[in-house]
Amino acid sequence: MEPRLYPFFADLRGRIVLVVGGGAVAARKIAALRSAGAQVRVGAPELEHGLQEMSARGEVVHLRGEFQHDWLHEAWLVVAATDDRAVNRAVAAAAEKRRVFANVVDDAELSSFQVPSVVERGQLQVAISTGGAAPMLARHLREQLEAQIDDSWAALTELLALYRQRIRGRFPAIAARRRWFERLLAGPLQALLRQRQPLRAEHALLAALSGSSDDNVRGSVALVGAGPGDPGLLTLRGLRLLNEADVILHDHLVSAEVLALARRDAELIDVGKQAGAHGKTQDDIHALLLEHAGKGRRVVRLKGGDPFVFGRGGEELEFLRAHAIDYEIVPGITAALACAAYAGVPLTHRDHAQSVRLLTAHRMDGGDLDWRALAADRQTLAVYMGVAGLGRLRARLLEHGRAPGTPFALVENGSRPGQRIVTGTLADLPELANAHSVQSPALLILGEVAALAGTLHWFGSPPLGPPAVEAGVRKRRYA
Ligand code: SAH
Repeated sequence: MEPRLYPFFADLRGRIVLVVGGGAVAARKIAALRSAGAQVRVGAPELEHGLQEMSARGEVVHLRGEFQHDWLHEAWLVVAATDDRAVNRAVAAAAEKRRVFANVVDDAELSSFQVPSVVERGQLQVAISTGGAAPMLARHLREQLEAQIDDSWAALTELLALYRQRIRGRFPAIAARRRWFERLLAGPLQALLRQRQPLRAEHALLAALSGSSDDNVRGSVALVGAGPGDPGLLTLRGLRLLNEADVILHDHLVSAEVLALARRDAELIDVGKQAGAHGKTQDDIHALLLEHAGKGRRVVRLKGGDPFVFGRGGEELEFLRAHAIDYEIVPGITAALACAAYAGVPLTHRDHAQSVRLLTAHRMDGGDLDWRALAADRQTLAVYMGVAGLGRLRARLLEHGRAPGTPFALVENGSRPGQRIVTGTLADLPELANAHSVQSPALLILGEVAALAGTLHWFGSPPLGPPAVEAGVRKRRYA
């Protein structure tokens, strides 16, 4: 096998590093070297503005002129960052002769050391190299890791550094130490850091150290919003939790594409109610949460859209709190926002609507809604769970003065491959929904802004209007 590069992290504190070149690339390299504590000498006929100022402040030493071999004197490393290949080559050759490692920017062939792509979280650094084979691939992977590794890793590294001696003292044998670490990291420590609860995290660490508590096998529940269906609309935090979960209790509304992102060996439990069929009751769901968290598992309670918008998230949290189970909440993109975006309907608009209301048509009979306020113009209604109650909704709104010509956009399967948009006016709302046999899940957007779907739509098929207009045959009857 071809020999590979040998990775190492160098301690440059107080050590002299020569950078040849005085332009923008050199300036970037110098910044990185200085943050590693290196004493930088920069050799070039001229320096760019920022470097001139650094030199004036004494932060770098400027060696003025063309490259000379004695610039390498006392240097531990050299970086060639000129745009002249002959100069870069001369620097590399001189360095080789003196046994000083040299990096020539963007030239793996001339380099005796390479600088990896790095993901940094405090003291923690993840370095990536393809040995010059495919630098773009390293970049690509770095972007993925940037998304995967959140800030809690910096805090975790710092906390463990603080207790390093005590941990070693308590577990001098490396195997025991490793086992202890595995258990510690499987526990709530990192979740607590993510929740910005450093004191509780430190307590969890101390408890694990003294072995007095079973804190590190305590389960927890994350209430996660899965968004409307398009997996691209899941949050990064939601994705991370799906990657870490032991058990996922999900609603029926959560799309298969989102579920496919879960950890391979996570147990998936569908607790959703399908329209018509009877799923689990809320009490069943509570019992499941308690059972799995009680066994020390990391449970994700995954809900369509956002857990706090018509999602009964509040009830579940009250239950968890009452049973002293740790929880966290990750918001999701709620159907109103997603359907509006994917139908090209701005929910507010300077010219058409100054406010938005989210409501559910579930209890349309309810005298508990303020119909007069709901019927006011120049506002947008986003109505969840509405397919069945559209007739009553129209009657109430008209009764309270909303204009029959108010536009609507009814969005079925918003953000999903089969998305459909039906548009029309309030006067024809239930009939149009019927004519196109709109099914759940569908969200109604009613208000002046809904007319914009006609011009601003961009996702999936264009909006459907009255069926008579589309079917040429029936059109004639209206002519
Ligand atoms: N917590 C969810 C709402 C749950 S209530 C959220 O924040 O989105 C279920 C209702 O949400 C459905 O009846 C439908 O009105 C709406 N809904 C959810 N996902 C949808 C989608 N992809 N397209 C259209 N409507 C959706």
